[in-house]
Amino acid sequence: MYYNDETVIFYNGKFVKAKEASGNLYGQTLHYGNGVFEGIRAYETSEGTKIFKALEHYKRLLYGVEVMDIDFNYTEEELTKITYELLERNNLKDAYIRPLVVTGENMGVFSAKGSDLIIQCWKWDKLMGDELLRVKTSRFQRPNPKSCFVEAKITGHYINSILASNEVKKEGYDESLLLDMNNNVAECSGANIFMEKEGVLYTPPRGHIMAGITRSTVIDLCKEVGISVVEKHFTLKELKESDSAFFTGTAAEVVGLKSLDEYQFPLEWKNSQGNKLMKLYKNEVLGLRKKCLTN
Ligand code: PMP
Repeated sequence: MYYNDETVIFYNGKFVKAKEASGNLYGQTLHYGNGVFEGIRAYETSEGTKIFKALEHYKRLLYGVEVMDIDFNYTEEELTKITYELLERNNLKDAYIRPLVVTGENMGVFSAKGSDLIIQCWKWDKLMGDELLRVKTSRFQRPNPKSCFVEAKITGHYINSILASNEVKKEGYDESLLLDMNNNVAECSGANIFMEKEGVLYTPPRGHIMAGITRSTVIDLCKEVGISVVEKHFTLKELKESDSAFFTGTAAEVVGLKSLDEYQFPLEWKNSQGNKLMKLYKNEVLGLRKKCLTN
């Protein structure tokens, strides 16, 4: 699904065939989850393939590298340039891009010396599909921000997401919702959440969540089109009294919720702010926003 005989990846400073690449079985990323990654999308626009917010994504990657004390020397600009070349070499116009910084050999629990950069890309539809989602609240909370850097995309953090997804998928739900350590609503396993109440949108503030690039794009779009959006903590009870809700993320883009546990969101999706934003977001990533705002 992710690669075939022709797929090229960027690995250790070179473009190589995915099927010919091999990794280090003694690396610290494999043993302890000390690696940093990104999830980025490129879209085919009328002006050619454009990587959406490449610099913002690579800035977050460099933040992760910094907080984990990993030796890494690429700049955001160099990473962006390599990624465009990788897309071209794979002949991909619409793609999901997965950069990953893996750390070297060290069985001690402090960062290894040196790192390797891997960038892979593949064609990937909207991660959670287009249908409204049936969501369940997970029994797992998002990590305490004093236990790690919650805004860094560290491979090991994703154990929390995998636990939550496994739990709810086993019960037949599409996605999980996680609360934070104070029992406020935090986010989905791999996306942020917004709720709508009487036309106003609410989303949890930074602190206990991954501050998604899609989340901030959606907030900017709201400001541009005059939708009120408030960053504040809210409880599960408040979410279950809201009119509508949606998730945002690079892989998922904007996707609506049908239900949360036993609660059915009452506002029809087609009449929600989420639906409007789903379309605006698509126009934004395709470079059509200006056109759409003036129509
Ligand atoms: N929360 C979590 C836990 C995530 O893994 C992601 C995906 N990076 C997001 C939110 C959304 O972030 P973004 O919009 O930057 O993709």
